[in-house]
Amino acid sequence: MKVNRRKFLESSSMLLSAGALGAATGYAAPAQKPGKKYRLIATEEAFASPEQVESFRRGAATQWHDPDVNMWRSFLANETILRRLLDFEKERLGIMDQFGVDMHLLSLTAPGVQLLDADAGTALAASANDLLAETVKKHPTRYTGLASFAPQDPKRAAKEIERAINTLKLNGLIVNSHTNGEYLDDPKFWPIFEAATALNAAIYIHPRNLPAHADDILDAGINLDGAIWGFQMETGLHAMRLIVGGVFDQFPKLKIVLGHMGEAVPFWLYRIDYMYNVYTSGGRGRIRIKRKPSEYVKDNFMITTSGVNFHPTLEYCHKVLGADNIMFAIDYPYQETEGSVAFINSAPLPEADLEKITHGNAEKLFHIPPA
Ligand code: MN
Repeated sequence: MKVNRRKFLESSSMLLSAGALGAATGYAAPAQKPGKKYRLIATEEAFASPEQVESFRRGAATQWHDPDVNMWRSFLANETILRRLLDFEKERLGIMDQFGVDMHLLSLTAPGVQLLDADAGTALAASANDLLAETVKKHPTRYTGLASFAPQDPKRAAKEIERAINTLKLNGLIVNSHTNGEYLDDPKFWPIFEAATALNAAIYIHPRNLPAHADDILDAGINLDGAIWGFQMETGLHAMRLIVGGVFDQFPKLKIVLGHMGEAVPFWLYRIDYMYNVYTSGGRGRIRIKRKPSEYVKDNFMITTSGVNFHPTLEYCHKVLGADNIMFAIDYPYQETEGSVAFINSAPLPEADLEKITHGNAEKLFHIPPA
């Protein structure tokens, strides 16, 4: 059955268009699927460019001790993940149709271009953005995209951001947390925030592994690196550095997106505010921010549901951050579409709020036309 379908898909791929795919594969078209309630825009959906995979292959073939290179050593051996990351035309659309996902907001998979040197990273970001823009152009109702840039060279990153938004018409930006152990609260990176705010482009801070020296603590025979604990630690730290580093006092309009229900930051809001006050009253820290840390979380951040298909966490975030600050995401192909869709369609929240979470907030933040 599976083999037949694949053979059929391959033999008929020339005939496939976005509209014809549902019929050609026997997948039900989402609009006619009974029980479908909401337009589903999934906002953290990964792809790889062939050049990016080549760059990982070259890195993996060396003796390089880096947790992201190690992660890619396993992805390169995982046929399903690789195939799904590189595909836009067959399996991805088929799975979206099967489970009623209307749109993937695509982004270059982690760690993006951030393992490369400045020249190679800048070039790879540009070619990946070109591929993404072509793909969106081919399937304008199914795909939108977040542009990559190389923080290794902040000025050229700002130029690529401008090209990606103004010329390629992409919908926002993505960065994979730290770059060579450095974080975006360092003012040397601020040309990136200047460009993003001038263009009204939100920045999704996607996880990656900690720098090698720190990641070793999580990987010492206990396997707490990666998505079990290390990713959320690293990305939550990045968010906190932006807040207490004064980035939002400098760029009040900057919008940052965090996946995985906010990388645990929403859980700690009370303690963060309380201890920020205690520590700064006691004279600790070199920067004083204008507002309570939690106020920046509510005003400058959006979170997504990627990888956390758990109603109690959603209800907590809804209560603390509000329906305007949460967006649906799957984290394809690393997480399963079926469970994510079932989770959001059955969420115990008011329908008007789920209209926002499933698509309304994403339409606004990422400039996606309503269906
Ligand atoms: Mn992801």
